[in-house]
Amino acid sequence: MRKLCISFALIALAMFPSMRLALAITGDTAEFVKLADDVYAYVGKKNDANAMAIVTSQGVVIVDTGNNQPDTRDFAAKIKSVTDQPVRYIVISQNHGDHIGGAPYFAPPATLIVQDKVRKDLAAMKPYQIKSWRKRFPERTAALAGLAPADMAMSFPDRMTLSLGGKHIELIYVDDPYNIGDVAVWLPESGVMHAAIAGYNTRHPDIRPDYSHGTTWGLLKQTEAYMALNPKIVVPAHGPIGGIGILENMIDYLLLARQKVRLMIDKGTPLPEVIKQFNMNKYQGWDRGSHFEWMAETIYRELLGQGPLIIPTVVRDASGTITRIAEEGRFFAIDTGGGNEVRLRVGTDTNIEGIADRTQFRVGQKLTASYEVKEGFNPALGYDIVEAVVQP
Ligand SMILES: [Zn+2]
Repeated sequence: MRKLCISFALIALAMFPSMRLALAITGDTAEFVKLADDVYAYVGKKNDANAMAIVTSQGVVIVDTGNNQPDTRDFAAKIKSVTDQPVRYIVISQNHGDHIGGAPYFAPPATLIVQDKVRKDLAAMKPYQIKSWRKRFPERTAALAGLAPADMAMSFPDRMTLSLGGKHIELIYVDDPYNIGDVAVWLPESGVMHAAIAGYNTRHPDIRPDYSHGTTWGLLKQTEAYMALNPKIVVPAHGPIGGIGILENMIDYLLLARQKVRLMIDKGTPLPEVIKQFNMNKYQGWDRGSHFEWMAETIYRELLGQGPLIIPTVVRDASGTITRIAEEGRFFAIDTGGGNEVRLRVGTDTNIEGIADRTQFRVGQKLTASYEVKEGFNPALGYDIVEAVVQP
């Protein structure tokens, strides 16, 4: 099996000479790579989310939307550089901001195609999330007035085939109770697959004890179903493109991770100790080792049949002055008086009022923020902001 896996990687490398070896993360800038006739991948920089574009004579189908606003605009420009056809459908492979966040750039007139569970989630979006959706691209805010994401979405329960301009695009959902609506995209004519959340290459999987990103069991089930189609080219959710070896590797990875936790459980190791000891350092060069703690706890819960961790959340308000800013406004701290500091984090759904977007936060600005406090949860990166209102 190992030999087979290597030969696939070599074939993939021979086909795409610009592609990096599977062990390196993706490059410092995003790349638009032709995978087959009329099939392109938008490979995110530094393992940011990968998207895909399938060009047909009846419009373009995209899979996911770019990691953030600049990537979404760049992805749209790259599509325009190869076709005059408009983007007609947006398939969402997983309902997380780095995959679905660029949708308001294309829809309407494009239509979102999602699994039924994601459509339900879109329909349940809160007013602040809808506001944030409309404002995510200032150039699109007027076009989105009065519209909510669920107004532009169609959904399916398990399988759907798009037949457009003689091309077939198969959408695959593999059911399990904690699958949040992940959809793999399979192109039988060219053997190309977007492997949705089962595709992690040179990045440690992001699975969480609240099962908001599924479970390792669910990932194994998905990966197995995708491998059965014998894809020639696999576009992972994160990391460099390769062959079926990406999926084989994921199976090995998940089985090893589960085995490590199982051995500790068998020895009676308590959860805090399991979390401390667990690592997947065998996977040298993979990024996001920061995921180990969540992964260990998720597997622990899965193996003991505990179900998802339910974290009670309350929304709190604070007013203060910005004292520090990091990563172009994604993280910042405010002084709420008397030297009290609250660290905050801007998410995809955060609604910001008073400035155009998070890049316009400045030290010294006064603002009020509503943010979520999760019980017993270490807010190392800051609390997630629901709404931030910057005072003029
Ligand atoms: Zn992602």
